[in-house]
Amino acid sequence: MKPSIYNLTQQELADWLVKNGEKKFRVTQLWDWLYVKRVQAFTEMTNLSKELIRRLTEEFSVNPLQEVVAQESSDGTVKYLFELEDKHMIETVLMRHQYGLSVCVTTQIGCNIGCTFCASGLLKKQRNLTTGEIVAQIMQVQHYLDEKSQNERVSHIVVMGIGEPFDNYDAVMNFLYIMNDPKGLAIGARHMTVSTSGIVPKIKQFADNGLQVNLAISLHAPNNDVRTAIMRINKAYPLEKLMDAVDYYLAKTNRRITFEYIMLSHVNDRIEHARELAQLLHNKKKLVYVNLIPYNPVDEHDNYQRSQSDDILAFYQELKRHGINCVIRQEHGTDIDAACGQLRSKQMKKMK
Ligand code: SAH
Ligand code: SF4
Repeated sequence: MKPSIYNLTQQELADWLVKNGEKKFRVTQLWDWLYVKRVQAFTEMTNLSKELIRRLTEEFSVNPLQEVVAQESSDGTVKYLFELEDKHMIETVLMRHQYGLSVCVTTQIGCNIGCTFCASGLLKKQRNLTTGEIVAQIMQVQHYLDEKSQNERVSHIVVMGIGEPFDNYDAVMNFLYIMNDPKGLAIGARHMTVSTSGIVPKIKQFADNGLQVNLAISLHAPNNDVRTAIMRINKAYPLEKLMDAVDYYLAKTNRRITFEYIMLSHVNDRIEHARELAQLLHNKKKLVYVNLIPYNPVDEHDNYQRSQSDDILAFYQELKRHGINCVIRQEHGTDIDAACGQLRSKQMKKMK
């Protein structure tokens, strides 16, 4: 199988061209064909020499994904299921907001972190996705939009699909550089968000990196007991270590951090939990944001239920009362299984 050309950053592509006896400026043309004109075959790149097209075709594929399903919801959310060259399936979601179009991408096949409420963790990690396979998810969605109209653009990216992005750090970072490249899709770093379950050394590395991409941390609990019960990763990186890394990030970048908090009925949604959470974040409340997420029930995890809306509201108000910035996340595409890992897991069951 040939690697996808979407694996390469602009610099890597320039190096490949020079190594193959081409002038470096060709990279601008090639990049423009891929990310601005967005053709899907080297033979359509009409200002390149026949010899270069032959070499590119010999060495690379363009798109490594096959669309299996594109399900459109009544609120405009589109959920895609893609098949990879080795037949594994991944999912990608397009969401429409007032501020633009955001896409949620998958970074691994399965996930080894094993949070007990999550559909993605039902499948152990089979492998990491390559940079090209992550880039291709955005390109597929953009092609879908290009076919429908000429003026809709993916404007935001959330790395919140299946997988733990910081367990596939280098591929994810190259993906972000390619998306951010001003000569390509030029998606602003501030329009991109990476969500992690809390891999402490990688949070520090991300802080040191300097790219202005937003960071979200899946917190989901105000203390170690509750967090360890629902997220095994809390044994390796308990809250003290996690908050240490958060402080490091805040000091280094002076950027806000978002904390995601799934509301699970009777597990983490009591008023005492809200108070404890406010206490935990008290000394950094100017720089943090809490996103309260109504839980999307997963068939296989029927011990977890979504919190009552009254409880969610009371939790929210308690955080506010303590001066913590927070929102209750708006849901997208609930009629089409848009929670991470759900479409894939249903499709696999149908195929069995
Ligand atoms: N592995 C990373 C990113 C992917 S998960 C992480 O855990 O942060 C993205 C977010 O979706 C996480 O906050 C995760 O906890 C949440 N999530 C997982 N299953 C969910 C469900 N059934 N309903 C609502 N949110 C869910
Ligand atoms: Fe993996 Fe994130 Fe799901 Fe946890 S919530 S199992 S880290 S995808």
